[in-house]
Amino acid sequence: MSQDPNCIFCKIASGKIPSKKVYEDEDIFVFHDINPWAPVHFLMIPKQHIASMAQAGPEHAALLGRMMVLAPKLAVEQGCTPYPEGGFRIVCNTGTHGGQEVHHMHWHVMGGPRPWLKG
Ligand code: 5GP
Ligand code: ZN
Repeated sequence: MSQDPNCIFCKIASGKIPSKKVYEDEDIFVFHDINPWAPVHFLMIPKQHIASMAQAGPEHAALLGRMMVLAPKLAVEQGCTPYPEGGFRIVCNTGTHGGQEVHHMHWHVMGGPRPWLKG
């Protein structure tokens, strides 16, 4: 599996940097954001290093599909009120104009009662 030794999220996915883990399988790692914007705020990442959504190709379609299907399940498990009264927001900042700070593709999943800090 391709990893970048200098990437903070590769280190989190491999356990070299500790995190509050939400979910893990062979391909996907999910953990709480260190600086939450909302009552529920976790990050979903592929374990393989993909720098951003801009690098997603057909070879990643199955992985991204699995992440997308997993998101609503984890959102409710983590305390988001069920749809439609509650729900959640998925954000994938991509590139400089997209506001991306960590260059390992990640999806923010946020929910819980408003107001939120941002988002
Ligand atoms: P971006 O701006 O790239 O979309 O979001 C990066 C997110 O990663 C931010 O919300 C930030 O709080 C989170 N983050 C950065 N470093 C760490 C860390 O070491 N551990 C955890 N759990 N989250 C981090
Ligand atoms: Zn990485």
